[in-house]
Amino acid sequence: MSIDFSDNRSFETQQPLVATSLLREDEGEQSLRPKSLGEYIGQQKAKDNLSIFIQAAKMRGEPLDHVLLHGPPGLGKTTLSCIIANEMDVNIRITSGPAIEKPGDLAALLTNLQENDILFVDEIHRLNRQVEEILYPAMEDYAIDIIVGKGPSANSIRLDLPKFTLIGATTRSGQLSAPLRDRFGVTLRLELYTSEELAHIVTRSANILNVPIEEAGALEIAQRSRGTPRIANRMLRRVRDFAQVTAGGVVTQAVADRALRALEIDSLGLDQIDRRMLMSIIENYRGGPVGLDTLAATINEESITLEDVYEPYLMQLGFLTRTPRGRCVTPKAYQHLGLSVPHGINHQPDLEQLSF
Ligand code: ADP
Repeated sequence: MSIDFSDNRSFETQQPLVATSLLREDEGEQSLRPKSLGEYIGQQKAKDNLSIFIQAAKMRGEPLDHVLLHGPPGLGKTTLSCIIANEMDVNIRITSGPAIEKPGDLAALLTNLQENDILFVDEIHRLNRQVEEILYPAMEDYAIDIIVGKGPSANSIRLDLPKFTLIGATTRSGQLSAPLRDRFGVTLRLELYTSEELAHIVTRSANILNVPIEEAGALEIAQRSRGTPRIANRMLRRVRDFAQVTAGGVVTQAVADRALRALEIDSLGLDQIDRRMLMSIIENYRGGPVGLDTLAATINEESITLEDVYEPYLMQLGFLTRTPRGRCVTPKAYQHLGLSVPHGINHQPDLEQLSF
């Protein structure tokens, strides 16, 4: 199997631990990625289903059906796609929606694939319309129509493609157009990880990085990493620095706690932006409801970041609810922030809005 990163993901500096974009710390992500389904921790439902689909496709000698993976950033969508390629014993080419600017870019990617290869498109909801239209016949009939020539002499020719699997990853499946969504045979939703699963991931990563770690140290990092392996691995790297300089190298619970406090990550993993978000709703909007855009403008962040990165975890903790009239803070959040709960506050989650 070969992995080809043809996307142009760039690393950003000076971002919070919780950032969605790839940070400098993530440069070593490759080495921490599990290579087989057995090594991939958690997401049992998705793994069980995938394992059946992979075995069936292999028995038939066919490519796997197109797969759509959705869930918040950092949960392991790219990792799972590389594992699928590994298990199917085929090559994978990795790109992203915004990196494919023109239909020609996609045509070049598709015509360079070999039989049964996987094309992984991250942020597939950000493909532009013209590119998306090339994808329909490619996914359905393994062919693309290209226009040769210009003006009245222009001609459309159909080009056959090798049979391939498209794996699309998205943080917002609701933004995918219906025709594109319908062309995926398999849709898998990745869930936030439990603390136990994350502790397992942290311990595994620490072993790979040769960092001595105690069980309680791994659990402390796990409980503060918002259900997200990417954040857990980032925290481990930063805690390792504290352990090296101040505690003889071993990551204990006390070292992890001290390091994460110094980084302003609280006991549940909330950072400054989470706290500003909750405090702003409490102080400026009496606990809500407040519209997302208004809230984003008040705390000077982008709505999309609040919605994709911060809200899923705050909602999972039961600190924030989405109602048709806007976001509301719950009594639980007041308690966590050490504030007394005002009378009359009992915002119940709107069940229909709870999924993300
Ligand atoms: P996404 O594509 O969803 O943004 P990635 O696949 O890039 O997320 O995962 C981020 C990092 O988290 C990877 O480097 C990998 O090491 C780690 N990771 C993700 N899921 C798992 C898992 N289930 N088990 C172990 N490590 C994981």
